[in-house]
Amino acid sequence: MPCSPAELQKKSDEFLSRWQSCKDHPGVDAFVEFAVAASSFTEFLDARGLPGLHQNARAVEQQVLSQFDRWNTDPMPEAPIGDLDRQIAEFGVRIAAFLNDNTDASPGRRLYQDDTILTEFLPAKKIWLLTSNPDDWKDVITQAGYFNIQVEVCRQHKDQKTSPDPTIVLVDAKALEPAAFNARVQALRSRFLASSIIGLQLPPDFEGLHLALRHGCDLCFPRGTAQSAIMARLVKLCGGEQEPPYRVLVVEDSKTASTVIQRTLKESGVESMAISRPQEVLTALSKFQPDLVLMDMYMPGCTGVEVTRVIRQHEEFLSTPVVYLSADTSIALQVDALRLGGDHFLTKPFNPVILNAVVRSKIERYRILRRSMYLDSLTGLLNHTTSKQRLGAAVSTALAEGSPLCVAMIDIDHFKKVNDTHGHPMGDQVIRSLAWLLKQRLRKTDAVGRYGGEEFLVILPLAHADRAHRLLDRIRIDFSQFSYPVPGAAFACSFSGGIAQLKPGMNAPALVKLADDALYQAKRQGRNQLVACS
Ligand code: GH3
Ligand code: MG
Ligand code: MG
Ligand code: MG
Repeated sequence: MPCSPAELQKKSDEFLSRWQSCKDHPGVDAFVEFAVAASSFTEFLDARGLPGLHQNARAVEQQVLSQFDRWNTDPMPEAPIGDLDRQIAEFGVRIAAFLNDNTDASPGRRLYQDDTILTEFLPAKKIWLLTSNPDDWKDVITQAGYFNIQVEVCRQHKDQKTSPDPTIVLVDAKALEPAAFNARVQALRSRFLASSIIGLQLPPDFEGLHLALRHGCDLCFPRGTAQSAIMARLVKLCGGEQEPPYRVLVVEDSKTASTVIQRTLKESGVESMAISRPQEVLTALSKFQPDLVLMDMYMPGCTGVEVTRVIRQHEEFLSTPVVYLSADTSIALQVDALRLGGDHFLTKPFNPVILNAVVRSKIERYRILRRSMYLDSLTGLLNHTTSKQRLGAAVSTALAEGSPLCVAMIDIDHFKKVNDTHGHPMGDQVIRSLAWLLKQRLRKTDAVGRYGGEEFLVILPLAHADRAHRLLDRIRIDFSQFSYPVPGAAFACSFSGGIAQLKPGMNAPALVKLADDALYQAKRQGRNQLVACS
């Protein structure tokens, strides 16, 4: 299970107890609190990768929100409570059953062989592939193995419970009638609450995709989707990289208001910091590095719009979203606020569910934007500039602490030939697969960037050259076993690498130069090998 059972139990208890208090003390306030809890639980299940339970929670949340307009009388009418109560009770039973089946905490990281520092691995991820044509998927199954993903091919009718649930259930639509496929998906959806359900080889028309999604597919690949694109999604879904929590800076002169706002954000798992004096905003932005600013409109000394204009004079905060909160509902004020650098306008008293939804969607987009600034679009690795910055920081830390640091420069062998023979898109796929492999095998504290076309920079803090060599050599061997399917045959690639260890008094460019020299030597010695500079 992607989160610990205890964590899920706690969140679910919170959600159910809010409902209980809502029933015990019916009223608008209790109902709003419950709506916030329902939203927060829905977001939690999504973030933790429990798609089946997430769909359930979303249905409950939708039901709750649809009552908002009707239930703003006090006390609430009896009938809707009865319906909602039944829906929530059923959901509670599902969660309890799910927890019962998944009581084993997900196993921790295991260590690969004898190497204690460099080669931590996550346990293999399990995927089911339901298909009548396993031969169609031979290459995907083999490649997945290199990414520590085990694909178990099952007959189409297999749906008995296993524990734990597979991370992904792939359902091949090729040999199934659309109705049979959709029924299949629906049955799987109700059984596998923690698995993503992905449809393969679907008819590419609107109706086919729409019905598949409606019956419970989390993702669909229409017929003709390249297997490389499918692999990319599988690797990403199995990577389970958890995003750091969202961070919001609250600029609000009223202590009471900022307490309520911070509480609302916390309910939804968003971290926040509040300042009451607008003059502190620049310091707070630098220190807290928020993903969004919630800005009061009227404060002593200046208005929220003026504060935003000051923020926007700093290049690094040009795109930080600013959402205004104001009791003033004048259209002129709102237009002015948005024109002068604001991103959204909410009126007070705010609806907490709307506040959280606005905050989340703005932050989500902002993070995507930032990602495109720091990461390479083909591989998702650090781009050239960010790799250099990261290396500079790692060198400074290692020199200051007197700790070891290694870098490796890796370059794919005879890559021009791949492009010339199999085409540029296939070349891209080779680059991508090496990127995935590197990312998968390195620790969180390591860094890997795409330094040039088919050249990668690997930064390994706390590693001596011999360890770096052992780790990268295993990756080299595995990469050379990859088989890239092309019509009528398959081909393989290899890479060469140069490794250098930081010495006292050395700077980052000198370290890269050493690794580059070692790489050049590896190429001269015949490629498909690593050389550590001595
Ligand atoms: P060597 O073993 O000496 O490294 O030989 P090589 O052919 O790999 O060496 P070279 O550096 O001359 O060739 C790199 C090629 O990579 C040239 C360039 O067209 C190609 N390339 C650079 N960026 C990309 C990319 O993003 N996608 C693809 N498909 N090819 C790229
Ligand atoms: Mg104020
Ligand atoms: Mg090159
Ligand atoms: Mg090359």
